[in-house]
Amino acid sequence: MKSYRMLIGGEWVDAASGQSFETENPFTGTAWATIPRAGTEDVDRAAQAARKAFEDPAWGQISATARGALLRRFADLLAENADRLADIETRDNGKLIAEMRGQLRYMPQWYHYFAGLADKVEGRVIPIDKPGVFNFTREEPLGVVAAITPWNSPLMLATWKLAPALAAGNTVLWKPSEFSSASALEFGRLFEESGFPPGVVNIVTGFGNEIGSHIVSHPQVDKVAFTGGDATGQSVYELAAKSIKPVTLELGGKSANIVFEDAVLDDAVKGVVSGIFAASGQTCIAGSRALVHRSIYPAFVEALVAFAKTARIGDPSRDDTQVGPITTRPQLAKVLGYIDIAKAEGATLALGGKRATEAACGDGWFVEPTIFTDVSPDMRIAQEEVFGPVLAVIPFDNDEEAIAIANGTIYGLAAGVWTQSIARALTMSQRLRAGTVWVNTYRAVSYMSPFGGFKRSGIGRESGLSAIREYLQEKSVWIDISGNVPNPFVQR
Ligand code: NDP
Repeated sequence: MKSYRMLIGGEWVDAASGQSFETENPFTGTAWATIPRAGTEDVDRAAQAARKAFEDPAWGQISATARGALLRRFADLLAENADRLADIETRDNGKLIAEMRGQLRYMPQWYHYFAGLADKVEGRVIPIDKPGVFNFTREEPLGVVAAITPWNSPLMLATWKLAPALAAGNTVLWKPSEFSSASALEFGRLFEESGFPPGVVNIVTGFGNEIGSHIVSHPQVDKVAFTGGDATGQSVYELAAKSIKPVTLELGGKSANIVFEDAVLDDAVKGVVSGIFAASGQTCIAGSRALVHRSIYPAFVEALVAFAKTARIGDPSRDDTQVGPITTRPQLAKVLGYIDIAKAEGATLALGGKRATEAACGDGWFVEPTIFTDVSPDMRIAQEEVFGPVLAVIPFDNDEEAIAIANGTIYGLAAGVWTQSIARALTMSQRLRAGTVWVNTYRAVSYMSPFGGFKRSGIGRESGLSAIREYLQEKSVWIDISGNVPNPFVQR
């Protein structure tokens, strides 16, 4: 059994209480490593270390170009270690090795991109309306950023926060999910090796329900960047409001993949399948609702079920596996619970519908790729985030109805549109209330393109040019250059 320590102020430490917990492999269902179980005392130490590092000239006074150089060095080390980290992710959270390798090999681009941006953050000179006064702005880091991240794409979702936060000159207190802490701690080693001063990146592991609120409300924490479930996101937001902290929230969705009658059917089938069954549906952008025009509905459903049936389920560490396990035991119970709800609501089960127990699944936590058809938009399966390989197929009759159904949930993270009509593509991209709209593709993300939610899917944007602004605050500086400070008792 491997034993990990956490990173606080440049030191690798156990929890002050000495407590730890075991992390399990979702494919075998067995524990493989121990992780420190931090308490509030450890959070205090990490927050203080992050504050100290923020104020230390070794970080606070280095040039933005030097910060960029550190990020580039980190990106290079990350590239060298990508496959090793991918193996750890697969062991710890059951994601497919092929997907994890792809994600890890692509991840250095975020650090290169934000390294490049670090020294291009510029203030403005304001042509102020007061004579004899020079007014300009400075863009300054916020201070200590708390990054709270989930288990579904652990390092990628952390990267979306860490890269811009560090490029902007902040320090970080990162709490990864209790289900995916090992890779985070391995990441910490790379920050250390890259030469980041001690305390610039601190990693505190433990249980969200034990230390999460202490992190969010901590007086030394200046901003919270959170990705996770919307119930937790709401409590993070409420708590942050008490101390007027800015937040970035990325809270998942119920994204619609809309297939029009003029779509290229084979492409749309592939897009819908990859939207929901990739990562076993455990992605915030899962296209968990397929909206299909009634004129092609029977043919589409037939092709969809036939293609989904070909998915190879099993060991996530095999290159040829296409559907892996559910990452956590509670999530397995939640997904199976939603399947029961859908059946009880009267949706038609067209594929799957239970825990997968075939030989290739071993003792792992698998759910069969599941498709419900004839779903009506008001069913819970069409409204609530399942976060598993469960697709709700809903028919529609015209474009207006498709828009109404697509927009008719509390979420607004993403949407997919399958059509050959450029006019329809443009109209849909305008009228769908979602932070990302994909046309004739699905699940594409890039370090260059903003990502985030409308409505209850979140606040703020990650990736792209604007993301660095989430980690900066603007200061206005006034300098009287008239040499003539007026008598304060004389009104001008
Ligand atoms: P959470 O939202 O609970 O977890 C996200 C992160 O928040 C984890 O690091 C977690 O720590 C932490 N956390 C937990 N409680 C608190 C708290 N009170 N204050 C601050 N941080 C806290 O997600 P779950 O893992 O419980 O998943 C629940 C549901 O959320 C899923 O079923 C899925 O629907 C959705 N989800 C959505 C994601 C997305 O990308 N949008 C990602 C993950 C889940 P810890 O892991 O230790 O509890």
